[in-house]
Amino acid sequence: MSAREKIAYLRGLIEGQNLAENAGMSKFHEALLGTLDSIVDELDDIAADQDDLREYVEDLEDEVLSSDGDASGDLSELSGCHECAAEGEDEEEYEPVTCPACEKDFFYQPDAYDDDEELICPHCGEPFKQ
Ligand SMILES: [Zn+2]
Repeated sequence: MSAREKIAYLRGLIEGQNLAENAGMSKFHEALLGTLDSIVDELDDIAADQDDLREYVEDLEDEVLSSDGDASGDLSELSGCHECAAEGEDEEEYEPVTCPACEKDFFYQPDAYDDDEELICPHCGEPFKQ
C-alpha cells in the first residue's frame, strides 16, 4: 500500500466514524489529512527529481565509460613519457660503493667518473679506485 493509499484509507476511516459531530475533531482530521497529502505530494516531487537525477547519473556513467578508451590512451602516453623520464634518471643513477679504507658505504655517480678515476670517500676522505 502506497502512502497515498494509506492516507485515502485513513480518510475513509475518519469519515466512516462520522466524527463530523465534533466540529473541532473534524477540523483537526482535515488538517491532519491535508498535511499528509502535502507530504505525499512533496515525496512525489522528490521521487521525480530522483528519477531525473538517476537518468543524469546514468548519462554521466555512459559518458565516463565511453571516454574510458581515450582516458587509458592518455594514461599510456603519460606512462610512456614517464618511462622516458625514468630512463633519463637511470643515466644519473647512483651506485653503492664501500670504502676499502673505512669500510663505510656511500653512493657515487659512475657516469661522473672515468674508469681509472679515483673516488674520494666522503667519510674518511681516502681516495680509492672503484
Ligand atoms: Zn672511507
